[in-house]
Amino acid sequence: MTNILIIYTGGTIGMINDPKTGALKPFNFSHITSNVPELKRLNYNFSVHSFNPTIDSSNVTPEIWIELAVIIEDNYQKYDGFVILHGSDTMAYSASALSFALENLSKPVVFTGAQLPIGELRTDAKENLLTALEIAAAKNENGLPMVPEVCIYFDYMLYRGNRSTKFDSEKFQAFTSTNYHSLAEAGIRLKYNEKYILPYPEKPLKVYKYFDTAVGSIKLFPGMDPRFVSGMLNTPGLRAVVMEAFGSGNASTNPEFLNVLREAINKGIIILDISQCLGGTVELGHYETSDELSSMGVLNGYDMTFEAAITKLMFVLAQNKPIDELKKMLSISLRGELTKLNGQA
Ligand code: ASP
Repeated sequence: MTNILIIYTGGTIGMINDPKTGALKPFNFSHITSNVPELKRLNYNFSVHSFNPTIDSSNVTPEIWIELAVIIEDNYQKYDGFVILHGSDTMAYSASALSFALENLSKPVVFTGAQLPIGELRTDAKENLLTALEIAAAKNENGLPMVPEVCIYFDYMLYRGNRSTKFDSEKFQAFTSTNYHSLAEAGIRLKYNEKYILPYPEKPLKVYKYFDTAVGSIKLFPGMDPRFVSGMLNTPGLRAVVMEAFGSGNASTNPEFLNVLREAINKGIIILDISQCLGGTVELGHYETSDELSSMGVLNGYDMTFEAAITKLMFVLAQNKPIDELKKMLSISLRGELTKLNGQA
């Protein structure tokens, strides 16, 4: 018999209206089961680990990512797969963080949630939950878990967690993965895109329990005052930033702005360049407007999502290693979070 552990953190999926304020707030898991009688018809066992209190995902912190990783580690032998019920707002951050925390993952960890509470008539919660459970239980023809990775199932699509972004706050189709293929699609059958799923690992699971939050982000815009960038980069204790640049990683060639970046890099601050575009990749040196960035030592974040880039920085900085090794970890794919173009170093 297949055993699945559901970890309920909170989110809209299990929320109800507060009669006093009318605002949605998280509620306990019994509310979910009473609204999905179909759960009794599953041909596998499931158990529930519920957060207490359950939370809106805007309140998720790196401590919660670690808590999730530890729950998975402690229950790893007992269960065939894990479904994490989580608010959609920061789900892509948690899924990215978990992908880094769980090295050599050999079992599915499927995040899901909903845009409408499970008690609403037109809810998307039931389908999301039931199919996420099916994915967590699925085995391939060799009897191995079909999707041994951290992923997000939402509105009929399964995506790699560290490739996903919440791009719509109203549509049931809340997530997208512009730079990587879907891992599965649910129609009348569940169609897995096996060649895009990470291979079954050869080594045992290794769980990392530290994230360093000494990171920041700068989103560039035309006319940005270099003094603002300087203020940010001179924040006491800061170790690294994600810089959301234009197009294929380009930025203004204003010497004052470039000097601010150069000074920060010379002080040992890591600047990781990703694009504001949802699709495509950073190509440092492709335009004159990224040439200087590359020569001063800004790192190429390739086609990473913002969520993957920021959580990868937090994960990498927590490793007790010299800065050159940290930079090397940032420039390679650790968990399938980035793709390099042919010829990119
Ligand atoms: N505010 C909710 C949350 O992220 C939204 C959702 O669950 O979709 O917890």
